[in-house]
This record gives sequence, structure tokens and C-alpha cells, in this order.
Amino acid sequence: MINREEIFAKCGGRCAYCGCEITVKNFQVDHVLPKSRAHFERELDNDRTDNLLPTCRKCNNFKGPYRLEEYRRELSLQVTRLRKNAQFDRALRFGQVSINESPIVFHFEKCQHQAAESRPQPLTPAGVPETQLSKE
Ligand SMILES: [Zn+2]
Repeated sequence: MINREEIFAKCGGRCAYCGCEITVKNFQVDHVLPKSRAHFERELDNDRTDNLLPTCRKCNNFKGPYRLEEYRRELSLQVTRLRKNAQFDRALRFGQVSINESPIVFHFEKCQHQAAESRPQPLTPAGVPETQLSKE
């Protein structure tokens, strides 16, 4: 049984992928390892909390049967596909849109990174956080 409240709380009321605001009523539960793939990968209990993330409808629909890295790759290919579109190409040439070539970082990954940085740093025997020691 999936505990929706527990899943919702994972990303502070935001979609785990794009970071848009979601509500308890409208969010969807994404299986990071998709249900459709679990059987083939011998992962029969993919309803485990650690395999579930809160998402918006648009991300959940697009991710569908993709694994996490497949989803990231598909998102990365969007710009390549758009460049073949004459209307997008025209908007690009006239400066109406711009392209951001940064790698796709999902919202939940940014949250994990921030949580790791805000954790207390291990102290050296002198009581100085390891990250403050000079590296000479
Ligand atoms: Zn989303």
C-alpha cells in the first residue's frame, strides 16, 4: 500500500523532476523503476517508498516507461528535436528563445545536494570542520 502523504512530503510540495509546485490533491506518484519494467528486471516490489517520487502530471506522463537516465536522455534530446522545427529555428534566429545546454538536473537531485551541504561537517580532532582546512 502506497502512503501518498509520505511520498508527497519527499520534495517539499514540488515535483521531483521539474520542481513545479504540486498539491496533495493533484500530484502523481512516479515509480522511478517503472512498473512496466519491474517484472523484466526481477524487481517485483517496486512499490517500495524508495522507488516512489511525487511528480506533476506532465512529468509523470512524459516519463512513462523510462528509467531515470532514459528520461534524462529524452529530455536532453528535446532541443535537438526542436532545432529541426522551422518555427523554433525562426524564433531562435530572432532571439525570441534561447537554448540552455546545461545538463538536466532533476529537482530531487538538487534537494539531495543541498541537504548534503547543510549537514554538519565531520570535525577534525582540533574541532575544525574538515572542509575548512586548507588543502596545501
Ligand atoms: Zn514536473
